[in-house]
This record gives sequence, structure tokens and C-alpha cells, in this order.
Amino acid sequence: MQSIKQKIRDIPDFPKPGIVFKDITPLVKDPVACRRAIQLLIQPFLDKDITAVAGMEARGFIFGALAAWELGIPFIPLRKPGKLPYDVQSICYDLEYGSAQLEIHIDALDSTDRVLLIDDLLATGGTAKASCELIELLGASVVACGFVIELDFLQGREKLQGYEVHSLLHY
Ligand code: IMP
Repeated sequence: MQSIKQKIRDIPDFPKPGIVFKDITPLVKDPVACRRAIQLLIQPFLDKDITAVAGMEARGFIFGALAAWELGIPFIPLRKPGKLPYDVQSICYDLEYGSAQLEIHIDALDSTDRVLLIDDLLATGGTAKASCELIELLGASVVACGFVIELDFLQGREKLQGYEVHSLLHY
């Protein structure tokens, strides 16, 4: 795990003063460490009959698509508004300042699907909670949420009560 943690770079004052951004680009630049991270991320769910991996724009696409590839199952993108070309289901959610929206194609999942949700980082949990609800609006079940990084001090896990949460690295 230490070899993966070494590939996460702290960027102070990004995107605004006072925030220390966890930069995952050194991890995805290293194919050995990145593959190890994906294997560790999916390992707890190998026997859980997952039928699809969903990932949030934008860094969730990287880890989610790699996890889906590794599992040999579909990847479902959850996108920012106006990006998906077909009919969508949307959800709005609150941010610290303001609100945000995510969308999914209405035919992306159905009630037979058991979904693993993947993102790079769990902070306050707002994005992940909204993503779970969006998946459930299509009738699918969220089996678990997987994150490369969890910022423990922001207690995002509390917003995800009722869901299994698995994070590789904790800060
Ligand atoms: P939350 O909704 O507060 O949990 O924020 C999580 C979302 O913000 C995820 O989609 C992350 O990609 C993004 N995010 C927040 N902070 C960071 C960071 O330090 N590095 C990378 N992504 C971050």
C-alpha cells in the first residue's frame, strides 16, 4: 500500500487557497502501481456478483473504467449535466457552496444490476451519496463504493451509511 501512497502528490492551495489537493496523476502514470491499486480496489467484491462498475466524472472514469476492465463487466459513466447524448436521469445535490448535478443514461442500468461505484476520492461524501441515489433511481442496487483515497477528517463515510465503503488510502 505504501508504494501506492507514494504516488499521490499533495498540491497546496489548489483549486483555491487553503485546500491541499490530492493529485492522482503520478499514480496513473505508473502502470505497475496503478494496476495494483485497481486489484486492491476490486478485491473485496470479487465474490459479490457485481454486474457493472459506475464512475463519476472525471477521475472516477479512470479508476472505474480500469476496474470494470479488470472485472470484465460494463463501465457506466456518471456525467456532469449536458454531456450525455441520449435520454438521461438527473440528480441535484448540495455542495459546500452551491449545488451540482450528475446524469446517467436512462438505459445504462436496470433492476437486475448490482453496481460497484468507484471514484478517486471520498471527501464530504456528497458526490458519492448522490451517485448512489442516481443509480437507485434506475432501479439498480449499489453493492459497495470503492475509493482510492478517503479524507477521513471530512467524515464522508457517514453520508454513505447503509452502503459498504472500501478505501485504499486514508488521510
Ligand atoms: P465530495 O463530494 O466532497 O466527497 O468530493 C468528492 C469529489 O471531489 C470526487 O469526485 C473527487 O474527485 C473530488 N475531489 C475533492 N477533493 C479532491 C482532491 O483533493 N483530489 C482529487 N479529487 C478531489
